[in-house]
Parts: sequence; C-alpha cells; structure tokens
Amino acid sequence: MSLNQASLECRHISLSYGSTPVLRDVNLKIEPGEFFALLGPSGSGKSTLLRLIAGFNQHQSGELLIDGQDISGVPPHQRNVGMVFQNYALWPHMTVWDNVAFGLVERRESRDAIARKVGAVLELVGLQDFARRRPGQLSGGQQQRVALARTVVIEPKLLLLDEPLSNLDKQLRVQMREELKNLQRKLGLTTIFVTHDQEEAMTTADRMAVLDSGLLQQVGSAAGLYDYPVNRFVAGFVGTANVLEGEVVQGEVAQGAGASLAFKVPGLGTLQLPRPETAPAAGPAALAFRPHQVHICVGDGQGDASRVWLDGRVESAEFLGEFSRYRVRVGEVALVADQPHYAGIAMFPPGVAVRLGIEPTQLRYLAA
Ligand code: ADP
Repeated sequence: MSLNQASLECRHISLSYGSTPVLRDVNLKIEPGEFFALLGPSGSGKSTLLRLIAGFNQHQSGELLIDGQDISGVPPHQRNVGMVFQNYALWPHMTVWDNVAFGLVERRESRDAIARKVGAVLELVGLQDFARRRPGQLSGGQQQRVALARTVVIEPKLLLLDEPLSNLDKQLRVQMREELKNLQRKLGLTTIFVTHDQEEAMTTADRMAVLDSGLLQQVGSAAGLYDYPVNRFVAGFVGTANVLEGEVVQGEVAQGAGASLAFKVPGLGTLQLPRPETAPAAGPAALAFRPHQVHICVGDGQGDASRVWLDGRVESAEFLGEFSRYRVRVGEVALVADQPHYAGIAMFPPGVAVRLGIEPTQLRYLAA
C-alpha cells in the first residue's frame, strides 16, 4: 500500500456560529507524516477545527491548504481526507471484511484490487483472522482498528481521529495509545487527532497545538510545552504548575554576573531570584514552576544554597504512591510540592513548619 504524506496549513482561519466566534485567527502548519494532537478543554474548538479540515464545517475567513493547495471550497468527499469518528460508525450487519471494503466498492475498484488492499490493511492492523466477524463480536479496541483500517484503505492524504481513545476503558486506553502510535508510524500518514486529555496528547503526538476559547495558545512537542509554556493557560493545562502572580520590580533589577532580580508577590513578599538569560521586563508577570521541582524539608533544615528557599507550613498532605503531594501555605499563598516516595520516608503532617526550595533554572516568567 502506498500512502500519502501531505502537509496541512491553516492560515488566519476564523469560524463563528452566529455571532459567537468559535475559531479565532488560527495559524498552524502540520508537516508531512506528523502525528499531531489538537489539545484543549471541552468547548475550546478542537472538533470544530477537525471537522473544518474534513470539510464538514466551513470557515468564514482564512485559507486551508493541503500540500500548498487551498481546499477551502472543496466538498468533503473530494478532499481525500479520512476521518475516524468517536463512535467508529461501523456497519453492524456487515463483516469486518465488508466494512473495510466498503469505500473501495463504492469507488468501483476491481475485485482483485479490493481483495489485495483489504487483505493488506487487515494485516497491518492485525485483524486478518477476524475478517468474517461482525463488529458486535469484537472488543472496543478491535472495533477501533476496523474503523482505522476502513479509513486508511482508501489511501487518504490525511487521517483525522476524533477523540480516538475516549470510548475505551482506562486500561485499554493506555494500551491503545501505544498501539495507535505504532500504527501511525507504520502508516507514515499525516495524522491529526483531537483530545482533551493532556496525558494522551503528550504520550502519543509528535507535536500538539493547545487551544483555549478558539484561540491557539501554543504549538510544540510535549517537552517543549511542558518546559517552556508561553502563558498561564498552557502552564496549567499541560501538566500541573505553581503560578505566583506578581511584579518584576524595576529599581531592583541588578546588572552583571551573579545579579539578582526582584520579584514582588502580594501576600508573600519580594523574592530575590537569579537573573535569567533573558530577563523579563519590569512590571506585572507570573512565575511558574512545577510541583516536583520544589524540594521540601523540615523547617529548621539547612538548604542547598543554589535553591531559593521559602518558609511555610503544611496545609494538607496526600499520599499517591510514587510521590506525596503537599499543599504548603507560604504567607498568604498556597504552593504545591511533590516529593518522590520511598519506603521508610515519613510524611510531613499538616501543621508542621517546612522549607520549600525552588530550583532557579526551572522558573519560568510568564507575561501578564
Ligand atoms: P471541543 O471539541 O473543543 O469540545 P467544539 O469544537 O465542539 O469544542 O465546540 C466549540 C464551541 O462551539 C462550543 O462552545 C460549542 O458549543 C460551539 N458549537 C459547536 N458546534 C456548534 C453548532 N453547530 N452550532 C453552534 N455552536 C456550536
């Protein structure tokens, strides 16, 4: 089977339902062969964008290009874009073989070509021994593979998946993540999938776009977004983050080697922090860091001098197995600190005085 590797580009795409904007000036380029996730909370516009690429929704402005060609006016069946729906939409009365062959029969391909292509694609998804079964006689994961096989057999330029794993139970979902990724690698087909689950996007996609309220917030790899979020939304949606709202104080921004930067946080005080390479401008900003990067130790302990230390009091403690999660009150601010767990480590009980050590290289300044 020869499959296409197409690029997809959205240029200034906007779509409204009545007077409600749902996609706002979306600019996005997806490379040939990429496994790409559209990630965002419910109602952020992910499905609208996916359906727009398939041709079921029409944008009011902007351009949609496949391999550089604007397909905005092309009807869905002429776009050569394959979409797998959330509920798989298999024909219950047809065998697996007939379900997969359906699109080829409609295209009036020869019997030989159909037999060859259906056989090849069923082998690819590992369902060659299930060809005579009906969808009702298959597990959820197998049904999904039939839906995928039925879509890729017509050799689309792009493969679109709408919440591909949401119909499966949790255990199977984790297993299918791996399977889906392997299958996409084998196919090499440019694939775009929608998910509201950041873990799913992070573990399967090469790159992802984070959407909120129809606005594209950031595009990048899982590690790129996690380590360098551009704003509060991305910092909080991709992983868990502590965010301190405050102000970079102008007069106290010292220059030179070993210089520090003053960050004033209402209800907490002014932190003297090492000056990062690209120092933020004076004025309102937020400081983000991850709970597992915060070291927690007893209140009178001597901390490693390379960290920035804050004195606080444990408000709550949760034991999660791999780590313990503490909510610590520092002044009027609550911070979250995760500590890796080993047998024999006693937990800090609520009420106890602790020190929190923040690793300066992991601090991220977010513009207000
Ligand atoms: P997501 O897939 O991220 O959950 P959707 O793309 O389904 O979000 O929806 C984005 C927004 O558009 C939501 O506020 C939703 O209510 C609205 N919306 C979606 N489809 C329609 C429609 N056909 N008519 C009016 N509003 C719609």
